[in-house]
Amino acid sequence: MDMAAAGTQPRTLADFKNYLLDCGAAVVGVADLTALPAERRRDFPRAVSIGMALPPDPILHLRRRRQRPADSERPIQAALAELARIALQYLAALGHHAEVLTPTPGTPALTHDEVAVLAGVAWIGKSSRPVNWDFGSAVRLTTVLTDADLAPDKPVDTSFCGTCLVCTQACIAHAPSGNLWHRGEAIRDFFNQAACDERRQKLAALGLDCRVCMSVCPYTTVYMLHSGVDVPNEDETPT
Ligand code: SF4
Ligand code: SF4
Repeated sequence: MDMAAAGTQPRTLADFKNYLLDCGAAVVGVADLTALPAERRRDFPRAVSIGMALPPDPILHLRRRRQRPADSERPIQAALAELARIALQYLAALGHHAEVLTPTPGTPALTHDEVAVLAGVAWIGKSSRPVNWDFGSAVRLTTVLTDADLAPDKPVDTSFCGTCLVCTQACIAHAPSGNLWHRGEAIRDFFNQAACDERRQKLAALGLDCRVCMSVCPYTTVYMLHSGVDVPNEDETPT
């Protein structure tokens, strides 16, 4: 897909978010990075968090089987890379500098999840993964750094998981502690990353992956139901 193929030519920064949504993004938010150290944000004042949703049928399959092929997310990662390329093309056409966020050796990396929180796109669930109100934990993210003066969105400060413990109880590795995230809290304070990594590495040796936590999240379930998937009635609703 390119800008011409998407049917709309870039006009102004005000059109930018809707343009990306027209091109297939599920969610788009703008983060104000100016409070972060310059080296972490590569001197860029803004970051655009772009999310796409995994298709619902494979999520239901994962939920039933408790595992999935290791390369399940390759198509959505390719689609996200294409969306990022479109965003760069749009901003360049308006005379702005922009680049895709990639890990920077030797510096505390700014992450897609961190940008999504700052951009109001997601909170961090008890599963340690971003959760969006409309797509649950099935949202996948990329980030474009830019000097364009885009209006920033309101960051997410607290979790919307409430008393839900569905992912905590479903995780065979006991990685989630069940405690809530809030903005600024380190993942290690409420989630056992090593336990999750060990489980996923064992599955990876078999060509498989986990992410059961994503498949059972009630917010993901609501997304699947809204997509018309016939989901078994076995879920709790976050309160
Ligand atoms: S990916 Fe699997 S092991 Fe890791 S937290 Fe989710 S359910 Fe647990
Ligand atoms: S399953 Fe429940 S606790 Fe876990 S991320 Fe989803 S809403 Fe939060």
